[in-house]
Amino acid sequence: MTDSSVTFHGWASTGSVQLQPWSYHPRALGPRDVEIQISHCGICASDIHTIKGEWGPLVQGTCIAGHEIIGTVVARGVDQAEKFAIGDRVGVGAIAESCQTCEYCTRGLDQQCAQRTFSFNDTYKVEQDEHRRGVTYGGFADGVRVPGDFVYKIPDAISSAEAAPLMCAGSTTYAPLAHHGAGPDKRVGIYGIGGLGHMALQWARAFQAKEVVAISTSDDKRDEAKQLGATRFVNSRDKDSMKQASGSMELLLVTSFGPDTDYNELLSLVANNGTCVLLAVPEKDISLSVSSLLGRHINLTAWLLGGRTAIRQMLDFAAKHNVRPWIETMPMSDANAAIKKAMDGFPRYRVVMHTGVVEEP
Ligand SMILES: [Zn+2]
Ligand SMILES: [Zn+2]
Repeated sequence: MTDSSVTFHGWASTGSVQLQPWSYHPRALGPRDVEIQISHCGICASDIHTIKGEWGPLVQGTCIAGHEIIGTVVARGVDQAEKFAIGDRVGVGAIAESCQTCEYCTRGLDQQCAQRTFSFNDTYKVEQDEHRRGVTYGGFADGVRVPGDFVYKIPDAISSAEAAPLMCAGSTTYAPLAHHGAGPDKRVGIYGIGGLGHMALQWARAFQAKEVVAISTSDDKRDEAKQLGATRFVNSRDKDSMKQASGSMELLLVTSFGPDTDYNELLSLVANNGTCVLLAVPEKDISLSVSSLLGRHINLTAWLLGGRTAIRQMLDFAAKHNVRPWIETMPMSDANAAIKKAMDGFPRYRVVMHTGVVEEP
């Protein structure tokens, strides 16, 4: 059931990275829904993989990507009237829906719910409610309707442009660092200083980790990594510095990969009984030397996104500790140039599109 009285204008992919202007009528506003007039949307690597068709065919062949959405509430269903006022500044991340009752949802791990629905290029799965069906369209548009339980109020201290990347890059790095206890008793390594890694360095500093080690293939990132909170920088192409750092990190986040990323060498950085968390999906499966992990009791794990609880905590924590993404903003009317910049323009460190709607706090 679509609402022909409302039209959202967005930038859609039909399987190529070249986006086209495309409009749609959203589903009818359900009692649990919130309608958002979008002011900003960040560009994430997942958007690019999806619109290129690298992660499988598009749902219904046409996709409006974008899952770092910020805007203002312009309408809400009856069940959301107490929670949201018209004009509230809000955000939406990668997840638009989950069952909220299963063992994962009740532990704050909505990303593992069998009924989890991504906020773009997905289909709502909770069938008992006619308003919770249909395809999801994301934030590369001027508006969106989303279940209000997955809409988050943005603290006044955080600008809308800076809030956008917090919704995915921010929560995806905050959640595993918080879960694995990054803090004064741990030396924390961050491999890959890009969209995710530049957030992870800042969280680790704000958690007061014993040491914050930036590990990068590029020496150009040395000064910026220090500004972002690194107490130490290791060039992963420099065998001697990698050797010196071996066995020194109780927690290592792997936020990116390259064609020559050596995972065995990365794991050698982890201290005995320490933990390595994989956040990025390499193009090919990786091979690991189990014997080198076994004697040192290395925990190898992985993490996807942040759940609702983590997103709320992350927003408050970012406001309090002044953690902000470094961004380059571009108009959404120039969406293809913005995508190109995010793909191969070496942004420092995240591209955020704005629709021209002014609504700063
Ligand atoms: Zn993302
Ligand atoms: Zn669930």
